Amino acid sequence: MTFQTEFALRIAPMRIRFGTPAATAVAEELATFGSRRALLISTASQDNNARAFAAAVGDNIVEVYAGAKMHTPVEVTANAVKFAISIGADCLVALGGGSAIGLSKALALHTDLPQIVVPTTYAGSEATAILGQTEAGKKTTITSPKVQPEVIIYDPTLVATLPIPLTVTSGLNAMAHAAEALYARDRNPLTATLAMQGLQAMLLGLPQVVEKPADLVARGRTQYGAFLCGTVLGQVGMSLHHKLCHTLGGGFDLPHAETHAVLLPHTVAYNNGAEGLDPLDEILGGPPGQMLRAFAKSLNAPLALRDLGMKESDLDRAADLATQNPYWNPRPVTREPLKALLQRAWIGDPPQ
Ligand code: NAD
Repeated sequence: MTFQTEFALRIAPMRIRFGTPAATAVAEELATFGSRRALLISTASQDNNARAFAAAVGDNIVEVYAGAKMHTPVEVTANAVKFAISIGADCLVALGGGSAIGLSKALALHTDLPQIVVPTTYAGSEATAILGQTEAGKKTTITSPKVQPEVIIYDPTLVATLPIPLTVTSGLNAMAHAAEALYARDRNPLTATLAMQGLQAMLLGLPQVVEKPADLVARGRTQYGAFLCGTVLGQVGMSLHHKLCHTLGGGFDLPHAETHAVLLPHTVAYNNGAEGLDPLDEILGGPPGQMLRAFAKSLNAPLALRDLGMKESDLDRAADLATQNPYWNPRPVTREPLKALLQRAWIGDPPQ
């Protein structure tokens, strides 16, 4: 690897805690903020867990808002902002995956309240200053220090309940951030190191948690990996893979983590040979796209877009959309190779 001597970094003032039970850590962090009226945010399916968690934290959490939805629809945010103001919330606590954390970030954008986030998936949103939101079926992202959570608390017992299919797809979602960070145009020595560490933690930890879902050491390893992968997502620009996932998630309503999981081997294979990917080639022992496909298959990850509900007749439109305003990518993104990539990913064929 050649050593870069000219680069710039963004380091946000965050506090990140590993190793303390989350309810204890949240109570301590609320005390640090002087918060007495915190609002806990979660998704509907985690409502009961969220209420039990709030009770374990104590009286400083005064309400639970279990209305977060995937891709942060602006109308959900508008209702949540009204609710937060109506109860006089003085701090936000998000318990959940990217959807709960997304709503917390949207609330922080509107209210400037501090955020303590407790991730229960591996999506990595907690580590970024990026908010993706949807309005009238269109997804847009904004980057602002206002949405960067002040505190992140990782507790492996909270991901130990994540069903294995979601564990695998969410883990591959995290790995996609790190894979794209390796060849990012604005990568630097720090992001390259963090990305490789994150990928290695996931390559080691994911098979272990699939084998033994309640292994807290392995769960902790995957959370550490997710933190590193999320951190590099917040540091450098993403390329073809994220553009394609963004297009398919926003335009065709495909599920977030599963879409990342299916596309990752294909998009990395499209960029095989890109500058920056060599270390991944080395640890995987072969071309990264093909090796990631073998890894995903060994974990029983979904391999085909058609299994996620995508119609073959939509592939042309997807290729058109993904080549409009493309993100920078190490290999130019042109329509015919991209359509061929989508066709293979739709069928579930190996990448080329
Ligand atoms: P999610 O938060 O929607 O969670 C998926 C489902 O799993 C939900 O029903 C949730 O309630 C449930 N769940 C979460 N944790 C669980 C647990 N421990 N046990 C059992 N069930 C659990 O999914 P996600 O993939 O974490 O997040 C996707 C969203 O995050 C998308 O909207 C995506 O755009 C966003 N995201 C944003 C960033 C960013 O930096 N802005 C980064 C990654 C993802």
